[in-house]
Amino acid sequence: MPTLDIKGLTINAARRLLDEKEVSALELTQAYLDRIVSVEEDVHSFVSVTADIALEQANIADRMISEGVHGHLTGIPMQLKDNMSTKGVPTTCSSKMLEHFIPPYDAYVTEKLKDAGAILLGKGNLDEFAMGSSTENSALKVTHNPWDLEKVPGGSSGGPAAAVAASECVFSLGSDTGGSIRQPASLCGVVGMKPTYGLVSRFGLVAFASSLDQIGPITSDVEDSAVVLSHIAGHDQRDSTSLNIDVPDYSEGLVADLTGFKVGVPVEYFSEGIDSGVENSVRNAIKVLSDLGADIVETSLPHSAYALAVYYIIAPSEASANLSRYDGVKYGYSSDVAGSMWDALENTRQNGFGPEVKRRIMLGTYALSSGYYDAYYVKAQKVWTIIRNEFKEAFESFDVLAMPTAPTTAFDIGGKTGDPVQMYLNDIFTIPANIAGIPAISVSCGILDGLPVGLQFMAGALQEKKLFRAAYAYQQATNWHHIKANI
Ligand code: GLN
Repeated sequence: MPTLDIKGLTINAARRLLDEKEVSALELTQAYLDRIVSVEEDVHSFVSVTADIALEQANIADRMISEGVHGHLTGIPMQLKDNMSTKGVPTTCSSKMLEHFIPPYDAYVTEKLKDAGAILLGKGNLDEFAMGSSTENSALKVTHNPWDLEKVPGGSSGGPAAAVAASECVFSLGSDTGGSIRQPASLCGVVGMKPTYGLVSRFGLVAFASSLDQIGPITSDVEDSAVVLSHIAGHDQRDSTSLNIDVPDYSEGLVADLTGFKVGVPVEYFSEGIDSGVENSVRNAIKVLSDLGADIVETSLPHSAYALAVYYIIAPSEASANLSRYDGVKYGYSSDVAGSMWDALENTRQNGFGPEVKRRIMLGTYALSSGYYDAYYVKAQKVWTIIRNEFKEAFESFDVLAMPTAPTTAFDIGGKTGDPVQMYLNDIFTIPANIAGIPAISVSCGILDGLPVGLQFMAGALQEKKLFRAAYAYQQATNWHHIKANI
């Protein structure tokens, strides 16, 4: 057998190798475990590697394959962001608070992927409790961008995006509250997709801002993204916001043609703070869409400008409530400093949470406190509705919107840690989709000074098929997704 080259291997390519018995699930899994050993000392995308579990699952997958009772993901090695519960495997949220927490149950997505026969290689690093845009807020380690180890991978799903970019797994799952799947996908040159709010159950996802959180795939190409979403979408009674709809096969109907497709290009996403190289790459990508037959129309979404402000009221407010459960009593870190109950509580939260998480809790507590609630929280709720309606109206005229994913390519490690507002501005183009509750995807559309650029598409609620169609057609017409990090 020739040596197995797993660099940039897609789910579909791995499936062919497994089905044609060119490689066993065990050999494939071992190849990824070896790859993790060789690049992890540079990339640091894994919080934990579950080699024993992976090899055991690979044996089971091989049995299923030989008996012909397997699905599309059987035997495919993957990673999960470490804020998704894995029964018996630590789920740390990259926080000291949960560093030794071993969940007694699986998240819905973990269950779904396990049932499908996918193989868990380990858990991906993130900004603590998914708060951040560079993965530097992880209390456990800093992940490095595989394209340039001096740069951040983006965040908060920096571990998952870097792991896919460095071929340490075939795919990973991220969570996206304000851009945490798409922004790191953009900075790492991979495909990151946030589904419609409610399409994927949040059961077992450690909550950050529950009205915005969504889980989605991080993959090497658009077909893989559609395959993974088809496996993890679906109704789940344990998440009250889970939508009860029939899930289509998202990989059907992907064609490399956009004849008659209406693409809106909102001017507000090409303004303030955008790097001129990023703007050029995205504008060139939009020309490609036009060559594919799409009607390109400039449009305006004036209230998008307020999405970031709305987000930094709503998300911290919900986080301050969600994170109140970490009191050192039931689970997680508990300070052993003796004293009153209040001292123990204070010490636990003082030592267990990092600075960004504390900042969010304080922002949220402030916005919700009596006297400020109406001025901040209620006002943000009202603007939230305006933004949602504005998008809804836009999708009466357009199939998708196209814009950059992030204003810049990957920045230096340490470059923005001293200035939270600069860090927050990284999500200026991704947050609106969370506020509107709509699906969005980032695909690679250029390379500037050796670093990838992301093109983002947004579609109306539950219009994932349109989103995939636009992204797939673009991908088929270009070569960017084939260019891999040189690691
Ligand atoms: N970077 C944003 C934040 O820090 C978004 C995070 C996310 O989507 N989880 O809040």
